[in-house]
Amino acid sequence: TKTDVVELLNSLANQYQVLAAEKGLDFQLNLPTTSQKTYGDRNMPTSYADRDLLQQAIHNLLDNAVKYTPSGGMVALTLEVKPRRILITVQDTGIGIPASDLPHIFDRFYRVDKARTRQTGGFGLGLAIAQQIIEAHNGKITVESKAGKGTKFQICLPLRSRSIVETRG
Ligand code: ATP
Ligand code: MG
Repeated sequence: TKTDVVELLNSLANQYQVLAAEKGLDFQLNLPTTSQKTYGDRNMPTSYADRDLLQQAIHNLLDNAVKYTPSGGMVALTLEVKPRRILITVQDTGIGIPASDLPHIFDRFYRVDKARTRQTGGFGLGLAIAQQIIEAHNGKITVESKAGKGTKFQICLPLRSRSIVETRG
């Protein structure tokens, strides 16, 4: 199947804007400003990723960003379209992840601080599932984080090699 990534991110943003606001967080959606010009409004970037699965993966990242960012912070969802791939970034100004934990966070059931995070719930499965979904689409998911500063997860998905964009309709 094909997924209209802009439509998907808009729909996720609508949902998370509300959840973020309830927690006192600022939420930003950044779409490529050149998309109208470059692709035309009937040629928005689409990815050969299953919509429900891609939605689940991004949802898991946004859920974490909101969960692990204290009130007053910021969560941003960003799309960049490159010639052969799209980059979807979820960035927050939250508690961050210590460097020693970073290699393990995609492991099933891994949680950084069990005592502290027990109150926030969760099984430690969100990132393992997100990684599995993205890798099943020949993509990659990467993380950069600084404890106390914030975290940035990036999903990189290939677009079909020949045509970057698919014409709808
Ligand atoms: P679940 O997603 O199953 O509800 P979870 O959020 O604890 O539970 P993951 O989403 O897999 O599990 O994340 C694993 C761990 O990585 C988390 O417990 C948390 O310690 C850390 N983590 C993930 N995302 C962030 C983030 N944006 N900021 C800070 N820590 C994070
Ligand atoms: Mg999670």
